[in-house]
Amino acid sequence: MAITRSTCCYCGVGCGVLIESTADQITGVQGDPAHPANWGQLCTKGLSLAQSAASLTNRALYPELRLTRDALRERVDWAMALDSVAERFADIIEQHGPDAVAFYVSGQLLTEDYYVFNKLAKGLVGTNNIDTNSRLCMSSAVTGYKMALGADGPPTCYDDLEAAHTVLFAGSNMAYAHPVLFRRLAAAKAANPAVKWIVIDPRRTDTAVMADLHLQIQPGTDVALFNGMLHHLLWEGLADPQFIAAHTTGFAELKTMVRDYTPKMVAEICGILEEDLRLAAEWFGASPAALSLYCMGLNQSSHGTDKNLALINLHLATGQIGKPGAGPFSLTGQPNAMGGREVGGMATMLAAHRDIANAEHRAEVAALWGVDSVSAQPGLPAIAMFDAIKAGKIKAIWIVCSNPAHSLPNLAHVRLALGAAELVVVQDAFINTDTVAFADVVLPASSWGEKSGTVTNSERRISRVNAAVAAPGEAKADWEIAVAVAQRIEARLRPDKPTLFPYVDTEMIFNEHRLLTQGRDLDISGLSYAQLATSPQQWPFPADASHGQARRYTDGVFATHDGKAHFHAVQYLPVAEATNSRFPFHLITGRLRDQWHGMSRTGRVPALFEHSAEPALTMHPLDAERRSLKAGDLLKVSSKRGSLILPLDIADSVASGTVFAAMHWNGQFLNSGGINEVCSSAVDAKSAQPELKHAAVRVEKAELP
Ligand code: SF4
Repeated sequence: MAITRSTCCYCGVGCGVLIESTADQITGVQGDPAHPANWGQLCTKGLSLAQSAASLTNRALYPELRLTRDALRERVDWAMALDSVAERFADIIEQHGPDAVAFYVSGQLLTEDYYVFNKLAKGLVGTNNIDTNSRLCMSSAVTGYKMALGADGPPTCYDDLEAAHTVLFAGSNMAYAHPVLFRRLAAAKAANPAVKWIVIDPRRTDTAVMADLHLQIQPGTDVALFNGMLHHLLWEGLADPQFIAAHTTGFAELKTMVRDYTPKMVAEICGILEEDLRLAAEWFGASPAALSLYCMGLNQSSHGTDKNLALINLHLATGQIGKPGAGPFSLTGQPNAMGGREVGGMATMLAAHRDIANAEHRAEVAALWGVDSVSAQPGLPAIAMFDAIKAGKIKAIWIVCSNPAHSLPNLAHVRLALGAAELVVVQDAFINTDTVAFADVVLPASSWGEKSGTVTNSERRISRVNAAVAAPGEAKADWEIAVAVAQRIEARLRPDKPTLFPYVDTEMIFNEHRLLTQGRDLDISGLSYAQLATSPQQWPFPADASHGQARRYTDGVFATHDGKAHFHAVQYLPVAEATNSRFPFHLITGRLRDQWHGMSRTGRVPALFEHSAEPALTMHPLDAERRSLKAGDLLKVSSKRGSLILPLDIADSVASGTVFAAMHWNGQFLNSGGINEVCSSAVDAKSAQPELKHAAVRVEKAELP
C-alpha cells in the first residue's frame, strides 16, 4: 500500500489528507496529522473521500462529440475532440472577434489548471470572458476587502480561532460548511467559557444553537444591523479613536450616517430585540479580540459588498484587526476559490491581484506572458456571461468542472442560454451533470486523487494536491486538456511564434505563476514545489522569507494607495425581490452537513445520506398550520421564474414567513434542476455576485396527476 500526502477536495478549510492506495485504487483516506489546517482531523465528507473516489459510476471516461446540434454525441479519440474544439473556437474568434467566446471555470480546479485557462483566454484568445463558479460564492468578499483594505485576501489566520474572545458569525453555518474549523472553535470555547459567540442568521442553524446570542434577522437586513451596532458602539464609547485617527479615512462621513441607525429603528427592520442588538455591539466593542467569520449569507446578496463593508467598518472602528484573534475573516466555500483569485481567473481581474482597468497592470501581464497586449475590455461575469450567450453575443462556451445548469440562479434562463449557444464544450470528470446534457463536446477530466497541483485555503495557505492513482479510462488532467487545445489554437492565431504553453508538468506552471506574483501583495516568489511538499505555507512568501505571513496589516499599514483602511458609509437597502401577496414567503437557501455542491461526489456515498435523506422545504409550524399542511405533504414552490416540487418539513428553525431549502439536490434527484429554478439572478452592482440567498416565493399544495 502506498501513502500519498494531499489536500481534501471539498471545502475551503483545506484539510491535509493521507491517501492510502494500491496500484490502481484509492483504498483509504486519513487526516494528515502534520497539516496545520486540521492537525489530522477530517469531517464526514473528508472521511468518505476514498469511497467517492473509488466509484466509477457516471465517470466521464472518453471524449464525446456531436457534429450537429440535433445529433447524439459519439465517442471519438482525443485528437479528434481537441482538433474540433480548437478549430471551432478559432473559427468563431476569426469570424466574430475574441469576445464571442467565453470560459466558465471552477473553484474546484487546482491553481495550475486555473492559471492555464486564464492565460488561454486573456493571453492567447484576447478576451477577458473567463469567469468562475467562485463568482457565486465570494466575489462580494473580494470587492469588500479591496475597497476597505486595499487588497483581496483575509488579514487573519486559523490560529485566530483559538485567540478570539468574541466570535461573530455572519451568514455562516460553519458547523456544516467548515466543520473542522468549527470543531477548533468549539474546543476553544469549551476551554474558555468567557468566549462569546454571536450568530447572525435568519435560520436557527446548528451553529446558532451553540451561540450565546442568536440574532435571527429578517433576510437581507445585515447592513442595517451592522450600522445599528456601530451606532451603539459609538454611543457607548467603545470605538478606538487612536486607531481610527492613525490608520483610517472616511470615519466622519460614516459617523454622520450611522446617527440615523438607532438601535430601536434597526431592531424593527431586522425583527430582533433592541437589547439583543445592544448586547451584540457591546460584546464586540468591549472584547479584547473580536473575530468575525462570514460566508455565503453575506456574499450571496444583491448588496453583498455593502454587507462586507459594513462589517469591516465595525472592525476598523474598534481597532479589531491586525492582532491575534481579531479581524474580518471571509471563509471561502470551495477548495480553491482563493487560488483562482491569485491567478486572476475571473472576468474582473488579472493575475496576482492586478486590475484589468489598470494599463500598467495589463502591460506587466502582457510582458510576462510574452504577448502584445491584454484586452482592456472587462470580461462578463457569470450572470452577464449567460445573458450574452442567450442573446447570441457569445457563440461558444467552454465549461470546466462546473455545473451551471444546476448552480446558477433562474435555471430556465440558463437552459435557454445553453440551448442557444453555437458550441458548448463541457470538461468534467462526471458525465451525468445537468450541464452535460447541453454539451456538443465532452472532454473527460481526471478527478481528485488522480491529478496534481496546488490549492490555497481560506487562510491563504497553499498546499500540494497529489495524484495517488491514474485517471480512469482516457481522462486527462484539466491543465493538460487546456494546453492541448491552446497549442492548436495558437497554430491558427499565432503561427510561427513560440508557444505560450510549453508546460510539461504542473511545476512549470506554478513557477511561472509565482514569477507573476513578484513584488505584489501576494508575492510567493520564495515558494517552491519541493518546500510545499512537506510544509504548506501562507502567502505572502517573498524570495527572502523563511515562512509565510500568518496575519496581515499588523503594523497598521494597509494595502491602499495611502496606507490607510477606508471606511465606507453604506446605507441599508432591502433585498432585490420584495415579498407580496402573490409571492408571500422569503425563500432562503443553504447547505447540508454531509453533501457538497450538486452531489457529483458525495452522492456516491450512501452513508452521507443518513444525515439528510431527501430534499425538503422547511416551514415554520404556524405557517403550516394556517395552510392545513402536514409534514411530508408535497408542495409546489414557485417564484416569477419557475417552480419545483418539494416535500414539507415543519420546523421552527425558520421564522414564520420564511422557508428554507438546501441547494444540493438537482436534476438527478428531482424532476427539476433544483431550488435554483426559483432563485433570483439579481446581482450586486459592485461584485456581480447573484442573490442566491433570497427570493420571494409562493408555496401551495402540489396537484399531482
Ligand atoms: Fe474536507 Fe472541509 Fe471536511 Fe476538511 S472540513 S475534511 S476540507 S470538507
